[in-house]
Amino acid sequence: MTFKHILEMWKETNIPFDEIILTEEMVETGMDPVIIKNNMKRLVEVMITEAEKNYGKKHESLTGLTGNNASKLINHNPKILGEFNYVATITALSTAENNASMGRIVACPTAGSCGVVPAILFALKKVHNAKMEDIVSSFIISGAIGNIIAKKSTISGAAGGCQAEIGTAAAMASAALTYYFSKDAEKCGHAASLALKSLMGLVCDPVGGFVEIPCVKRNASAANVAITTAEMALAGIESVIPFDEVVDAMYRVGKMMHEDLRETGNGGIATTPTAQKLVEDIKKRWK
Ligand code: SF4
Repeated sequence: MTFKHILEMWKETNIPFDEIILTEEMVETGMDPVIIKNNMKRLVEVMITEAEKNYGKKHESLTGLTGNNASKLINHNPKILGEFNYVATITALSTAENNASMGRIVACPTAGSCGVVPAILFALKKVHNAKMEDIVSSFIISGAIGNIIAKKSTISGAAGGCQAEIGTAAAMASAALTYYFSKDAEKCGHAASLALKSLMGLVCDPVGGFVEIPCVKRNASAANVAITTAEMALAGIESVIPFDEVVDAMYRVGKMMHEDLRETGNGGIATTPTAQKLVEDIKKRWK
């Protein structure tokens, strides 16, 4: 499946984009679109239930490297963020902290980037009172974006750096948000392209190899990239480079990345003196 292909189908028909995606999935997998949609609904239900349960809750990871930042944000009167961004940022932190403390999450597309899409979906529900049906339709667009990236490129930090995980999550979230407000497939492609380009080149550099620093807070930042790029797309701002080409470019960047910058914990922020001291302290505690 390429984005160009499904976009052309959308332009040639009067069929809603989420239905085109479900039909295309049926052609590719042989699965009944009703079953595919029910599976998507189930994932959304888990994401929203966990988002609700963990919203602003105190978490602490086993390593002690991360936690309790969603609770700081919920107890802070925002000076800069609007309501939607504020709710999304708390949700992204809560979900990623929940993952770091072994809670239940939906890998979307991966565990490390699990906070971005729920942040958007939960903010739609909480701030815009979105109906489940519309959230599921929007999530189907996220699924197609993630699928295209997984097939044409990679969604693995070990293979393509954090751009492949967090970048993909932001593209998925941005497209979902754009679909919710516009039902316009072309705008969704622009939103996803803008988001992925914004995070292109992002390295995977987890401190000590734990999916915590910088992962947890990166989820929160990426949720805001998704919101900004969706707003731009809704305003009619276009990505000059089409989505499929952006995905190919991301793949080439991933291939050029040194392995130290692909989940080994041997590059980037993981090699700072503070990071190394934190890892030494954990080793001593765990002896
Ligand atoms: S830094 Fe690596 S482990 Fe952390 S979220 Fe990004 S890709 Fe995943």
